[in-house]
Amino acid sequence: MNVASALSNLFFPPQCFSCNKRIEDSAILCEKCSDELVRVKENLCVFCNKDTLGSLICEECKKEYPFDEVVCAYSFNLPIQRMIHHFKYNEFKKIGTFLGYKLAEIISTYSFISETDYIIPVPLHKTKKRFRGFNQSEIIAKAISVKLNIPILKNVLTREKFTQTQTRLKKHEREKNVANAFKLENFGTIKNKSLLLVDDVLTTGSTMKSIVLLLKENLAKHIYICTLARA
Ligand SMILES: [Zn+2]
Ligand SMILES: [Zn+2]
Repeated sequence: MNVASALSNLFFPPQCFSCNKRIEDSAILCEKCSDELVRVKENLCVFCNKDTLGSLICEECKKEYPFDEVVCAYSFNLPIQRMIHHFKYNEFKKIGTFLGYKLAEIISTYSFISETDYIIPVPLHKTKKRFRGFNQSEIIAKAISVKLNIPILKNVLTREKFTQTQTRLKKHEREKNVANAFKLENFGTIKNKSLLLVDDVLTTGSTMKSIVLLLKENLAKHIYICTLARA
């Protein structure tokens, strides 16, 4: 440990990002909170809760949400909620990397990964990115890219419309809110390619849906979506 990190540990001893208990230097969660992380059930559709065969989206819901596969790592319980909050709003990027690695491990068990050409992080509007200082999806995407050795596609998808935060909106309001929010450039790059879209939390799926429709209109082959959590 160098002097700077020794001093920093003295004044700001490392704490569990969920319960604030003191922990080891490199850890993110204490053991108790780690045990409380709950994986999303792999045989239930995340949209309608129906039984599936080892997928998070059923055939019926694929008609409304044209995702070729869905991977969400954790249920949105307390440790995850607090971690994502610290990550997004208190700039603890190492939490995003930590969870991104975990998500990568889960994704690596799916067969689609061998034919995925590019990773695309869900973009933030530039005003929001400037305000936050970073795009959380890019941090997660980078961790996945490093672990799975799949390149990130940059400068293709941008968010042009500044949308209000979706948290309090109903499903149809969300869909309206994000309609035409995204813009695609250099669309030749995605033609016939299989893409993995990355975001922090899956809620109604409206944001992902609006992006996937745009990518499919422009001839992307397969689109898989993944998030750290399912709210
Ligand atoms: Zn804890
Ligand atoms: Zn379903």
